[in-house]
Amino acid sequence: MPSLTSQPEPVRARSSEAAAPEMCWQGEIKAAIRDAEALCQQLDLPPETISAAASGASQFPVFVPPAYLARIKPGDPADPLLRQVLPLAEEGNPVAGFTVDPVDDAAAEQAPGLLHKYQGRVLLITTGVCAVHCRYCFRRHYPYETAPHSDAAWDVALDAIVADESIHEVILSGGDPLMLVDSRLEMLVDRIEKIAHVKRLRIHTRLPIMVPSRITDFLMGLLSRERLKSVVVLHANHAQELDDEVAAACQKLQSVGVVLLNQAVLLRGVNDSVEAQCDLSERLIELSITPYYLHQLDRVSGAAHFEVPIEEGKRIVTEMRQRLPGYLVPRYAIEQPGEASKTILL
Ligand SMILES: *Cc1c(COP(=O)(O)O)cnc(C)c1O
Repeated sequence: MPSLTSQPEPVRARSSEAAAPEMCWQGEIKAAIRDAEALCQQLDLPPETISAAASGASQFPVFVPPAYLARIKPGDPADPLLRQVLPLAEEGNPVAGFTVDPVDDAAAEQAPGLLHKYQGRVLLITTGVCAVHCRYCFRRHYPYETAPHSDAAWDVALDAIVADESIHEVILSGGDPLMLVDSRLEMLVDRIEKIAHVKRLRIHTRLPIMVPSRITDFLMGLLSRERLKSVVVLHANHAQELDDEVAAACQKLQSVGVVLLNQAVLLRGVNDSVEAQCDLSERLIELSITPYYLHQLDRVSGAAHFEVPIEEGKRIVTEMRQRLPGYLVPRYAIEQPGEASKTILL
């Protein structure tokens, strides 16, 4: 068929795609909102929220990636996704019982970046960086500068894992481990895979939700290593976080055999109702994700306004158990410093 242009058809198709390239995951991080005022303006929030948000943000800056922002309903200060990321003036008020290290991470630090609290499992603080700043973060005051910042700085932590044959699972945490550049992540997975007594690699991350494009072919390759079973524990608190883009990212992970679980935090004004919790569980199972934990809020300073009393949490979970199959009811748990495991409340 004669062509009116000298360009063959496929090249034209490709170059028109290149004119509007999909953002790579680092591009999405660069495009994140980092300013309370910009967040309020983009979402058409009433002017009085701006000054409150700015004062809250002075302690812990705003950080909201575009994919998550797009799921927030504009003009609604009570939106459950907005509540997780919008600073409030209350964050600056000291509240008795709320401290900077509520779970006593400091006592569990066995080597720089290595927390060993529970039998058979260790947790690596791989980075201080996240794709979103959750206002209730229990590590919002964590001294991340003490964690390793170079490949060589990981030697002490990894040698400690080599030396302890009781360790069968290594949990990459942070911060968010999927914020690491691929080369650093690969270095850690390579070294962990070589430790014969480690059977499982677990990743605690919000990236598939916050920046779904992070689930690249390279990452899927890393998580489908033959010798290590990979488990990814997501953190979604509300069904509205789990749109089709997130579903596609999860499906990619599952296509290479990664087990997907979810942990949520029980949060006032976000998911403190039987309906919200049931909707979350129903949406998770649509995506083949098992609800794992529902955490009682860790009492970190700045987050007191998110707390739901344990008795109320127990009522919610009891009613979930009446409405849902058992496998859709997460374990309602609290972390108590010094205990040999997380404590199951119900
Ligand atoms: C929560 C946690 C774990 C994992 O506990 P599981 O009950 O196995 O999910 C491991 N190490 C630390 C330090 C933790 O806080």
